Amino acid sequence: MQIRLYGAAKVVTGSCYSVTVGKDKILVDCGMFQGSKELEKLNYDNPGFDPKTYKAIVLTHAHLDHCGRIPKIVKYGFKGPIYATSATKELAQVVMLDAANIAAHDTMYENKRRRQQGLAPREPIYTENDVKNALKMFKKVDYNQVIKVTEKITAIYHDAGHILGAGSVELRIDDGEKKTIVFSGDLGQIDTPIVRDPEIIQTADYLFLESTYGDRLHPPIQERKNKFLKIIRETYKKGGKLLIPSFAIERAQELLYNINEFVEKGLMPKMQVFLDSPMAIRATVIFKRHPEFYDVEIKELLDSGDNPFVFPGLSYSMSVEESKSIRDIKEPCIVIAGSGMATAGRIKHHIKNHISDPKNTILFVGYQAYGTLGYWIKKGEKRVRLLGEVVNVKAKVESIDSFSAHADYQGLLDWLKFFNPKPKKVFLTHGEPKSALSLSKKIQKMGIQTHIPEMKESILL
Ligand SMILES: [Zn+2]
Repeated sequence: MQIRLYGAAKVVTGSCYSVTVGKDKILVDCGMFQGSKELEKLNYDNPGFDPKTYKAIVLTHAHLDHCGRIPKIVKYGFKGPIYATSATKELAQVVMLDAANIAAHDTMYENKRRRQQGLAPREPIYTENDVKNALKMFKKVDYNQVIKVTEKITAIYHDAGHILGAGSVELRIDDGEKKTIVFSGDLGQIDTPIVRDPEIIQTADYLFLESTYGDRLHPPIQERKNKFLKIIRETYKKGGKLLIPSFAIERAQELLYNINEFVEKGLMPKMQVFLDSPMAIRATVIFKRHPEFYDVEIKELLDSGDNPFVFPGLSYSMSVEESKSIRDIKEPCIVIAGSGMATAGRIKHHIKNHISDPKNTILFVGYQAYGTLGYWIKKGEKRVRLLGEVVNVKAKVESIDSFSAHADYQGLLDWLKFFNPKPKKVFLTHGEPKSALSLSKKIQKMGIQTHIPEMKESILL
């Protein structure tokens, strides 16, 4: 059998594995590249393979860097099916439609520029129609269900504890010789409040392991909560606004979960809280609809009659007018808006309007890929360019990395320790070279061989 990487090799985004067993070909994930302009350009390239020759996609979860190129390969002739859990399908719909919207918008601007330079227009990566066609191909699966993907490939999903509906995928291959290949997908942290802890998997001949935080340790969950509360109180005292660029799925809901607790326990001053992201609002509705994916912590809270997504002071700003009106609010407030790395969406306008006032605080609660606006602000740049203007950074910049939906290296190693016997080899993907290398050394110390694949590298197993 052969596995070829069409993304997430020495980078965090663009997850896409091609698995070939005899004449059977499937994909595990087909995500978008995100981050620097060079990386995002790859989304426009030819996929590098012929989608018509693939029999199925096994989708681990709904993040854009895992599902974002699916409509593109549908446009190029892929006929399905696409396996995913029910929550993944619903969240992927929101994510892919948002991507089609952004693509339409970006293409309009790009083509305006091209026209002025006498260049030929560019097509969007895909359209809403391609997304609709892709959605028809989704097939719902449950955790631990045995799925016959092809004659020679069987798949089983395990809860990855990353975002609602996310799975690690175990592929059982029979090409004369039986082999088990596990794709960790993105693995979550233990003890987070909404999703369950990553499920233990014990059998794998070979493992493809994510390494986003392969060189970092997160502080304990309680510490992040305390820091979050401290930042809220400080911003309130200064009379400023707390702007939080947030990913729409899982992060936004976890932030609400925490703020709900602060409000219910009377720990924070009375302030308005805006979830100013139509995508996060849609995702929150999906979260409400799928309690079957919940961890015990949130179930107990709901049983006690407290809904973490509804509390005094919380407003969901769906319309542009509602979003714009936040600008004129004089009292301290909290604004949670997308995108998570401040590369698009409403947060860019909020940052532009508030970044030059020292009363305000910008709080990063997630991974900021190199080259993104979030990366430069977090790094401490004093001037940044956004929405066609250069602005001075005078607002306080804070960050809490441990909000991450990804396990740190200890979490990854602890999960890996349960494999018995040890995998013959662990392939480290979905991480910058520094993180992948650091994790690789730690795994080698456990007596397991490792390899960090290159983009488009073919691996024969
Ligand atoms: Zn993810």
